[in-house]
Amino acid sequence: MPELPEAEVAARQLRERVVGAIVSDCWVGREDIVREGLSSLAWYRRARISGVERRGKSVIITFLREEQARFLAAELGMTGLLLFQRTPTKFPQHTHFILRLEGTVEREVRYWNPRRFGRLSLFDQAGLDQYVARRFGHDPLVISLNQFLELLSSTRSRLKTLLMYQQVIAGIGNIYANEILFRARLHPDQSANQVGEEAATRLYEMMGAVLREAITMGGSSVRDYFAPDGTEGQYKRRHLVYAKTGEPCPNVCGATIRRSVGERSSFYCPTCQRMRRRCVS
Ligand SMILES: [Zn+2]
Repeated sequence: MPELPEAEVAARQLRERVVGAIVSDCWVGREDIVREGLSSLAWYRRARISGVERRGKSVIITFLREEQARFLAAELGMTGLLLFQRTPTKFPQHTHFILRLEGTVEREVRYWNPRRFGRLSLFDQAGLDQYVARRFGHDPLVISLNQFLELLSSTRSRLKTLLMYQQVIAGIGNIYANEILFRARLHPDQSANQVGEEAATRLYEMMGAVLREAITMGGSSVRDYFAPDGTEGQYKRRHLVYAKTGEPCPNVCGATIRRSVGERSSFYCPTCQRMRRRCVS
């Protein structure tokens, strides 16, 4: 968290509210928060924001100056937020980077990150291309059904591991992986290449449905997440299994939701999400 829906909501708000703005100043609180390109920071002053997009769980801002383009990639990591100036935070000391803006209603975009798992990077076009190629696999909202089926049949990885493996499918983290697998009625530890085509198609459809619905609802406010304008995401209310250990299965199958022990907990229904072996006849 934040995952794809939260990053998408942040990118959309920024696109709506700061495209066209001129950067009047860049403030860096902690230099180690800028992973790459810190020496080019002066270039960004007087540049114009010309676009904002999402890649995986990252937000990428495009800047133009004298017909040259450069970029800022903000990884939101576990706890990162992009916030407008007017949005209050509980712990302002965790604001590590500020873009000060002219020419739009929003006067600042702040990068706030208490646990500092995420980083910022400043790139030229070649640097951005390398970064995108290195870090981001298929976008779950763009990948075609055929590509997805091919991906599943080509690996023995566990389904949940695969869904969260950013270099293969970029943007899904623990919350949405659990929710998607429950709705597709597939066990998190099921080997990808043993999922039949019908179930794999269901998984593809649920992946798109869950992520799109979550975006529409502003994402999920779990822990301290909120959007740049301070609004909370409402999708948490639709969570069926994430952090619901011991609660009755929403399918009313009679079982209760289990939590597997591991680095990233899986939440699942042992009855609705049985492990399957594909019948070879
Ligand atoms: Zn169940």
